[in-house]
Amino acid sequence: MTRDEPRSVLIEVALPLPLFQTFTYAIDDAMASRVRVGSRVVVPFRQRRQIGICVRLDAEKKPGTRIKQALEVPDAEPVVGADLVALCNWIAEYYVAPPGVALRLALPVLLTGADAPRPSQRTRRMLRVTGEAPSLIERDAIFGRAKQQRALFEAIEALGGTTSAEHLRDQLGFSPAVISALEKRGLVVAEAEVVARDPFLSRRIVQTPRLSPTDAQRNAIEEMSAADGAETFLLHGVTGSGKTLVYIELLRAVLSRGKSAIVLVPEIALTPQTVDRFRGAFGDSIAVLHSALSDGERYDAWLALKRGEKRIAVGARSAVFAPVSDLGAIIVDEEHEASYKQGEAPRYHAREVAIMRAHAAGALVVLGSATPSLESWVNAAAGKYRLLRLPDRVAGGKLPKVEIVNLRSRFSGGNGASAPPYSDYDRTISAELDEALHARLARKEQSILLLNRRGYASFVQCDECGYVASCPNCSITLTHHRTPERLVCHYCLHQEEPATKCGRCGGVTLRQRGVGTQRVERLLGERFPAAGIARMDVDTTSGKWAHVEILDRVASGEVDILLGTQMIAKGLDFPNVTLVGVVDADVGINLPDFRASERCFQLLSQVAGRAGRGPKGGSVIIQTRVPEHHAVVHALTHDYDTFVHAEIEGRREPAYPPFVRLANIVFSAVEEDAAMELALAAGEWMSQLLAAGQVEGITLVGPAPCPIERIKNRWRWHLLLKSSQPGTLTKALRFFAERYDPATASAERRITIDRDPVSLL
Ligand SMILES: [Zn+2]
Ligand SMILES: [Zn+2]
Repeated sequence: MTRDEPRSVLIEVALPLPLFQTFTYAIDDAMASRVRVGSRVVVPFRQRRQIGICVRLDAEKKPGTRIKQALEVPDAEPVVGADLVALCNWIAEYYVAPPGVALRLALPVLLTGADAPRPSQRTRRMLRVTGEAPSLIERDAIFGRAKQQRALFEAIEALGGTTSAEHLRDQLGFSPAVISALEKRGLVVAEAEVVARDPFLSRRIVQTPRLSPTDAQRNAIEEMSAADGAETFLLHGVTGSGKTLVYIELLRAVLSRGKSAIVLVPEIALTPQTVDRFRGAFGDSIAVLHSALSDGERYDAWLALKRGEKRIAVGARSAVFAPVSDLGAIIVDEEHEASYKQGEAPRYHAREVAIMRAHAAGALVVLGSATPSLESWVNAAAGKYRLLRLPDRVAGGKLPKVEIVNLRSRFSGGNGASAPPYSDYDRTISAELDEALHARLARKEQSILLLNRRGYASFVQCDECGYVASCPNCSITLTHHRTPERLVCHYCLHQEEPATKCGRCGGVTLRQRGVGTQRVERLLGERFPAAGIARMDVDTTSGKWAHVEILDRVASGEVDILLGTQMIAKGLDFPNVTLVGVVDADVGINLPDFRASERCFQLLSQVAGRAGRGPKGGSVIIQTRVPEHHAVVHALTHDYDTFVHAEIEGRREPAYPPFVRLANIVFSAVEEDAAMELALAAGEWMSQLLAAGQVEGITLVGPAPCPIERIKNRWRWHLLLKSSQPGTLTKALRFFAERYDPATASAERRITIDRDPVSLL
């Protein structure tokens, strides 16, 4: 150590950069009195101020390094608890992510900026007119030819004399210049108003009477309440068996012990009814962390949880990082949902993170589902998780009767010349389904129709040469959308005008194939002109509260037929829905992905579960061309156990999860050759690593082109690693991430590591 360097304490800091290391900085006495593990620290890094998190006190100087002085410790208390620092370190290690990037998961966005260490409450700028209202003649004199200013002034007057600048700008289209001109003239004053408006909080709380549990529910509640911490339960309850009631009673027990809890749901906007029930039971103790929150609102919720003012966090996957202390339980509802896996680095799975976090805190975990993931099922069978079952619907409800309509025999021309000429509607909605819809409309009952394919037609094909229009950036066919009339790529959002002639042969007969939700909506509208029809898919739900608005319309009875993609399959509980129709069960069933059948079974079971939840009962009609497929066969009888046994056998050879753990390394580049070379070189490197005996017990598959070879203008290859030992896989992946020659990767060539992938496409 030279004399120039400050003689002080050293700490280890994780910076939010794509680097697989932490950095050592010196702190002075004043900082040392404030800094803890989890404190934010402002440090100099490559000529810039960076805000990092202290991950270790009493660090040691690495030989040959020059230590810089930290600049500032902005907070009196650590922003991240030591427990969450440890959890994020585990994520960085297991999912092979840079530690500083993993730590960002535990911080609200407002605390990650280098220049804004202390966010204030969120306020909005309100404009208020001053003085007496001028007469018309006075107005002419005041405004003269400034017509916009006058229009603005009068708009504010019309809104009661005060309104937000945001509303004037975004909704009424006034420019900021006009607003500030009016302010300068003293005709309006600007005031700050604290915003505490949260659309979820303004929803009416439905005070359902406290229900008395069934025997199965009571048994589940008792077993969970009696558990001595750190235990994982798999709550396998059929649809309509009352899992939410079990969650609520467990939460009551947790709160009564002075502890707090986290409830994860796949997506808040899709499950307003579930969230409403939690709010009904716990009111102000709950913080709902939904995606429509602004950064400021999110920060407020974070703070309320951290201070213990709220003790239950409800949210999608990132809520697993809620800063609650004295954690008593984490509930993962619909634990099989793929949305629990984050699609970008760090590619964590919230279910696994929940288990790690709860285990470290001595808290219990409840994984709930009507169709548990195979991974969780195997863990329960092996005794790692305790299995609790809710085998029946509550209040004597019966699971709906499921009927299969085989579309293949119908349209394959089996009857030859005698087959009638089918209309588009007949080809899409079978006579059975049509009749069932008709009967529901006549009885003023509601129906749900699932078609997991949005847009109008899934592709457009030339009748003469068979050419199909596909995306110029991705190896995906373009989907035909109406309103606006466009061909759209669902991967990169490329859009183009539909051509009138074939791009290959110039033929003029272009046929739309594969119906999408837009087209079914139109066909239904023509067939049932008096019916209230609502469509729920990505295209109709771009607004923040669009989901909730559609579902509220279903609840009020305004909607007779709710048509949608997988969005409508989970969580919905409308007693007047007595029919569920699956327009095409085969969407996705043949994808080249080892989870395709599992996903299909889950989707069919979940959507079937929306039917018959009230005293009127209900039925389900599944239209398919593969009625013999085991996902369809077992959905027919609601037979999860038999499905699992059949499905699991197919995962043995070749081995897939849950028999082995996977890591998918994806290589991509703009040039096809570059992607291939990158993948081949990495595959070679990995083979040598294994051959050298550094890591044992790993099987390599590939490298090979990804099933979707090109996305967003990038060619994609992948290398799959399989192992039955998680530790071995971690070791190999870390060797790769830290030592594989980074010169081959650049902005143009990308390598991503996806541990425990939910999809291999
Ligand atoms: Zn594309
Ligand atoms: Zn053609």
